Amino acid sequence: MIIAIDGPAGAGKSSVARALARALGFAYLDTGAMYRCVALARLRDPAADPAGLEIELGDRVLLAGEDVGEAIRAPEVTEQASVVAADPAVRAALVERQRTLLSDGDWVAEGRDVGTVVAPQADLKVFLTATADERARRRAEQAGRDVASVLSEQRDRDARDSSRETSPLEVAADAHLLDTTGLTLSDVVDRIAALARDPADRAENRR
Ligand code: C5P
Repeated sequence: MIIAIDGPAGAGKSSVARALARALGFAYLDTGAMYRCVALARLRDPAADPAGLEIELGDRVLLAGEDVGEAIRAPEVTEQASVVAADPAVRAALVERQRTLLSDGDWVAEGRDVGTVVAPQADLKVFLTATADERARRRAEQAGRDVASVLSEQRDRDARDSSRETSPLEVAADAHLLDTTGLTLSDVVDRIAALARDPADRAENRR
């Protein structure tokens, strides 16, 4: 079974997808971490070929064997990730890897285009949203930064992710829209787990 969780920055995808995978005993795929690895590699070497990069995701994120779990969360890498993500060659290379991973086993996969491009056949698609203020507030709290600067970076990133020509952020026609503003992590996980367990519910409650 594949559960696709897409949505904008700060909607809670990573926390939700990770907790949901744990609750269901599924593997977890953070597609954003792959774009972040390419961004880090390109910041170090602008000629880095995305198809040739050794990226391993699991308990740790490894780039050519180096643990880059922290480095890929730096603000300049975050910014660069949405720039490299607009490059069709980068997307083609990463989407191919993601499809290979998802071809076997049960997965919760999160990103921007999992339900629309990477795995349009996913059994359950959820598009998580929250108000821009709420998303910025959560990110600022996590990173120990001020809300205003996070909000302004988030606006730029949302605009880039939504306006790029290749696989822009959009809601799959058969996705369940879930606004997480004001909901706790366990509320959100419980709602998605219920949809995953009940195929009838799944079909009825789509957007
Ligand atoms: O989800 P995360 O913030 O880690 O993603 C970093 C960046 O990677 C996003 O801003 C987006 O530009 C890009 N991305 C993407 N497609 C995905 C996952 C992430 O374009 N499936």
